[in-house]
Amino acid sequence: LRQPPWRCADRSVWLHLPRPHRNMHTAQRPAYRAGQYRRAALAPLKGSEALVDRIAGRVIAATSDEYLVDTGGELLRCTLRGTLWQDRGKEDASLVVVGDEVRVEPGPAGQGAIEEVLPRRNALGRGREFQAYGGKGARQRRSRHAVRRRSDQVIAANVDQALLVFAAAQPRLNLSQVDQLIIASLSEDLPTILCVNKLDLAEDDLHESLKPYELVPVEVLTACAITGLGLDAIRERLHGRTTVVWGPSGVGKSTLINTLWPHVDLKVGHVSAMTGMGTHTTRSAAMFRTGDDTWVVDTPGWRHFTPRSLSRDAIDAVLRDVAKQAARCRFSDCRHDQEPG
Ligand code: GDP
Repeated sequence: LRQPPWRCADRSVWLHLPRPHRNMHTAQRPAYRAGQYRRAALAPLKGSEALVDRIAGRVIAATSDEYLVDTGGELLRCTLRGTLWQDRGKEDASLVVVGDEVRVEPGPAGQGAIEEVLPRRNALGRGREFQAYGGKGARQRRSRHAVRRRSDQVIAANVDQALLVFAAAQPRLNLSQVDQLIIASLSEDLPTILCVNKLDLAEDDLHESLKPYELVPVEVLTACAITGLGLDAIRERLHGRTTVVWGPSGVGKSTLINTLWPHVDLKVGHVSAMTGMGTHTTRSAAMFRTGDDTWVVDTPGWRHFTPRSLSRDAIDAVLRDVAKQAARCRFSDCRHDQEPG
């Protein structure tokens, strides 16, 4: 039989509960109280003056439910104020990302709550994708079963430039992925550096494959993170700026950052012998200070890149020079590759 509330073992606690709790069975109380807290968190702030005593900071690490905010001297572990996600849904991974400038209400013991995200200067990201349920036959089931469509995902915001890292081999250099990342970066007006790592494993034709990138406003560097070859040039390009280091898993991003700045000490993964692809070691984005005004954003790994949808005009604007050269070609059906046109 249920205990009536007035027979509650700890009567002193019961007497201090607000009235609606008194008439409720003990087992129901926590749920009721959780609801009450949620409603309080969702209550809109009263007027913009409520934000005046909030402090400004920058998000330097983000996981699914916690954010580390640098307030220029102090690091705060922050959650999101409910007002931020009530319109867009808590699952929106792009609500607050690494690099975001935010206003925070500080709390006790190094904690706080993010109340506002300031407008982004730029936002590097990837497009939405269809996600079929995994397992055997997922492909065939795709048409009949529910498929979850995710929204575009912002990886990092407010950066000064992008360092796109690929490997010459292991995993193999996927030029269409290189093109997609270059377009994603240039369409955000970011100065872009393409770094081809693992030079020790490169085939002889590597420089030939990279030749078309002379037409694109991208600086191409080659490096070997293990031997340190070519790293001085990268260190020099990154000095005094905030750089997002972006590329597929297993290409050596963490090794590169660790060799350049050993104090950062990122976990290094391995390339799977079975798939020839990298394993994901970095699970969430984070930025590190590597010198005066020099910040590096390490991004989570991925194997397949889905570009954000861009209009034809936007892509043409990014690849203006390539389009100009292509227009001068003698052949109408040319691939602009090895042909004499
Ligand atoms: P990330 O997923 O892009 O961060 O890649 P990791 O830094 O975790 O490196 C994946 C694997 O590639 C590790 O086993 C590294 O030791 C290896 N690796 C990284 N750079 C080089 C390189 O320049 N040459 C060779 N041969 N291996 C490398």
